Amino acid sequence: MTIAVKPDACKLDACPALVLNADYRPLSYYPLSLWSWQDAIKAVFLDRVNIVAEYDMQVHSPSFAMSLPSVICLKSYVKPLRAPAFTRFNVFLRDNFECQYCGSAEDLTFDHVVPRSKGGLTEWKNVCAACSPCNVRKANKLPKGAGNVPRQWPYVPSVEDLNRNGRKFPPNYLHESWMDFLYWDSELQP
Ligand SMILES: [Zn+2]
Repeated sequence: MTIAVKPDACKLDACPALVLNADYRPLSYYPLSLWSWQDAIKAVFLDRVNIVAEYDMQVHSPSFAMSLPSVICLKSYVKPLRAPAFTRFNVFLRDNFECQYCGSAEDLTFDHVVPRSKGGLTEWKNVCAACSPCNVRKANKLPKGAGNVPRQWPYVPSVEDLNRNGRKFPPNYLHESWMDFLYWDSELQP
């Protein structure tokens, strides 16, 4: 099926559909589950989703016209993953985008609580958000003594933990320190 796009494509690109699970909750809160208008329409035609709300904008083909879906809902429930992926973004989200040593939200990076040189692994329970100055200051020290122990010991978060934290950050809000991490979904390499 070819769809002749009447409204200009730029406007269409600004019209993603929010994707809800079959229980009407967003498939993911953070990042918010959004599909392009093309994927949304494809899913409608494949009968995989119901349209919940529409944009005030239509796409046309010679034989039909339809409003762009703004909210769609999956017809079959997708079970949320039990354990969230260990990614840079999810580590930041677990730690509320705050350095776990001083609380700063500036210049965020990652720290191995037990340094790699001392056998610390790159895993949920040993990696936390840390600002650059704290990271440099802590260097290869073990988590002992003032300023070298994280406020919250790193843990494996549940999907619910991350969703709860994600709600504190409004959609589309991109803190400048996040910009270097647009490969959020790449897994951290050990
Ligand atoms: Zn810090």
